[in-house]
Amino acid sequence: MKKLRCHCCGRELPKGNLKYILEIRSFADFDGYLEDFEGDVEEGINDLLDAMESMDPKALEEDVSKELIFILCKSCRDRFTSDPFQTGKAVFEGEDIKGTIH
Ligand SMILES: [Zn+2]
Repeated sequence: MKKLRCHCCGRELPKGNLKYILEIRSFADFDGYLEDFEGDVEEGINDLLDAMESMDPKALEEDVSKELIFILCKSCRDRFTSDPFQTGKAVFEGEDIKGTIH
């Protein structure tokens, strides 16, 4: 059987060892703001639907939503969850930022 390794540091994770599953789900945020659209909205939606028809369904799906799954050791999990993008800034928690991005 293939040995399990931490996706971040590569350390081997033997059977029975503490390991963490990290699921990353990103999805397009919609703030309801459509007033900037110049022209007929219905026509714009039809144009968008036409454009979507010629796109690769997989690429289209990835544009809207993407999920990634990693297995991490405890120290990589702790490091990631305390500062996922290594920006030195505090982590946002909860649902409060959804729908607020412009
Ligand atoms: Zn690790």
